[in-house]
Amino acid sequence: MEAQLEELAEMVMTLTGKQEQRMEGLEQALAALRDGIGGLTPRGAPSLGEEPCPRPWTARATSLQWSELADWVDWLHTHYEPQGEYRIPSCWPYHPGAAEELAGLRASWKAAMLAAEQSDDSGDQALYWHDRCLWDTLVRANRVIPNTCRNTGHASLRKLPPTDRSGLPRTNGQSGAVSAT
Ligand SMILES: [Zn+2]
Repeated sequence: MEAQLEELAEMVMTLTGKQEQRMEGLEQALAALRDGIGGLTPRGAPSLGEEPCPRPWTARATSLQWSELADWVDWLHTHYEPQGEYRIPSCWPYHPGAAEELAGLRASWKAAMLAAEQSDDSGDQALYWHDRCLWDTLVRANRVIPNTCRNTGHASLRKLPPTDRSGLPRTNGQSGAVSAT
């Protein structure tokens, strides 16, 4: 009986190991696919018009950098426990505007924390970051996330129509609308 149990336990271990290997394989394949797609159509890039130059963070970040940002945002939520308008819904990666704000916030946090550490905590870099960056940026990031996402989960936004180019100047200083009348 004991031997049978041991054999069963070994089988379960083998199966679990195989499952883990398969999961790892799937994750790697997914990451490779993301990178491939990323090269063709940058994630978060505007779907209308030309991609701006220089490229925004969401258009140039690698899947590893996206993952690092997600880790940091999760840490931020656990660490600071923001409430109400300061909480970022988990669907933020679907909202490029929010991702840009959060990427900027992380970059400024890194600079502030490094400066604080290197000065042996004798400066006001950390205080400045908390005062000027942290809370205001969280509010701004939330501005582009609709309440539906907060209440019932992520919902795709209705796309804004592109610029009405009939109003653009045809020659210097003369708007299309004016020249049309
Ligand atoms: Zn959403």
